[in-house]
Amino acid sequence: MLKPKIAIIGAGLSGLSCAKKLCLAGFSPTVIEKSRGIGGRLSTRRIGNQFSFDHGAQYVSSTGYDFNLYLNEAMEKGVAGEWCRMHSNANAKPKSKPKIVGLKGMSNLVTPLAENLDLHFNSAVKSINPHNNGWEVETINKLGKTTFDIVVITIPAPQARELLSTQLVISSDLNKVQFSPCLAAMIAFEDKISIETNTFMSPNSELAWCARNSSKPNQQLLPDCWIVHASAGWSEKNIDSSKDEIAKNLLKIFSNTFHIKLPKVQFLAGHKWRYAFACLPLKKDYILSSEKTLIVGGDWCLGNRAEDAYDTGLSIASFISNTF
Ligand SMILES: Cc1cc2nc3c(=O)[nH]c(=O)nc-3n(C[C@H](O)[C@H](O)[C@H](O)COP(=O)(O)OP(=O)(O)OC[C@H]3O[C@@H](n4cnc5c(N)ncnc54)[C@H](O)[C@@H]3O)c2cc1C
Repeated sequence: MLKPKIAIIGAGLSGLSCAKKLCLAGFSPTVIEKSRGIGGRLSTRRIGNQFSFDHGAQYVSSTGYDFNLYLNEAMEKGVAGEWCRMHSNANAKPKSKPKIVGLKGMSNLVTPLAENLDLHFNSAVKSINPHNNGWEVETINKLGKTTFDIVVITIPAPQARELLSTQLVISSDLNKVQFSPCLAAMIAFEDKISIETNTFMSPNSELAWCARNSSKPNQQLLPDCWIVHASAGWSEKNIDSSKDEIAKNLLKIFSNTFHIKLPKVQFLAGHKWRYAFACLPLKKDYILSSEKTLIVGGDWCLGNRAEDAYDTGLSIASFISNTF
């Protein structure tokens, strides 16, 4: 029997775990991604050949069998490794679960999933409309309009809502999901700053997380690179500021929080994660259209961590291979 033609929109962890499992089941999905690389919020900003920052997800850990299996595979392939196990906060407790990171950047964590895939970058999807028994997907680039039998959408729920406003069954579920933003600063100090601990969880009400990126495995020690993530409250209040303002203000808060004299700043940049975390997830594996050929998922279906993204992708792939 002829296999259906499948599009997967989004090359984050959920889109790629779905694509890989579909390939193993004999399908040949086309993955359409708006940015110029894979990983989505598992993201790495590289500054020339000198240094890099994981400005989105900091590390991942697994609670279930499937993601654990994948992380072991990624470690065997040499693209993932273990980071420090301790956080520092008022009640610092040892974390029992290993923190797994992508070697040379979090975005590398997903590379084993993308091997041999039909991937299209710089291809933002702008509309999805019913067409015969399938769907017509329109992208803002040379792909133009293409028809597929099945379309899987794995992007944050508020962005999916914009694409699917005419799909009433899907929209009613999408409307239940809420996201919070996270504003971030990437800071490289010329010399090592006088803080011994490498990770801080919620050091005050304005910050959610600070981490020495250069303490991750396979990173150079200098410059001393730090990631600062603002709390949801601070992020919401400052979402309309420019990225430069965000970076400068977070650097000031960082300095005040740790009461230290900072060395010269070699690099400073801000980033806005408008849709960072699902603060109200859907709590079901995925959303299905009435025709069962338009399927929407992402971390926000099950929770707000990388493992949730991985698992929703696998569930969608199982549904497709069991049904078609
Ligand atoms: C600041 C921050 C810190 C985090 N920290 C952690 C952590 O420490 N541990 C953890 O487990 N998780 C963490 N997370 C959450 C984790 O990053 C996510 O759960 C996971 O990466 C989500 O994967 P996804 O594939 O569902 O979505 P995404 O990664 O968002 O992937 C969606 C993809 O779709 C693409 N896309 C969007 N719209 C379109 C369109 N119209 N057309 C084509 N492509 C499109 C995007 O470019 C993106 O590549 C963090 C997230 C953020 C933002």
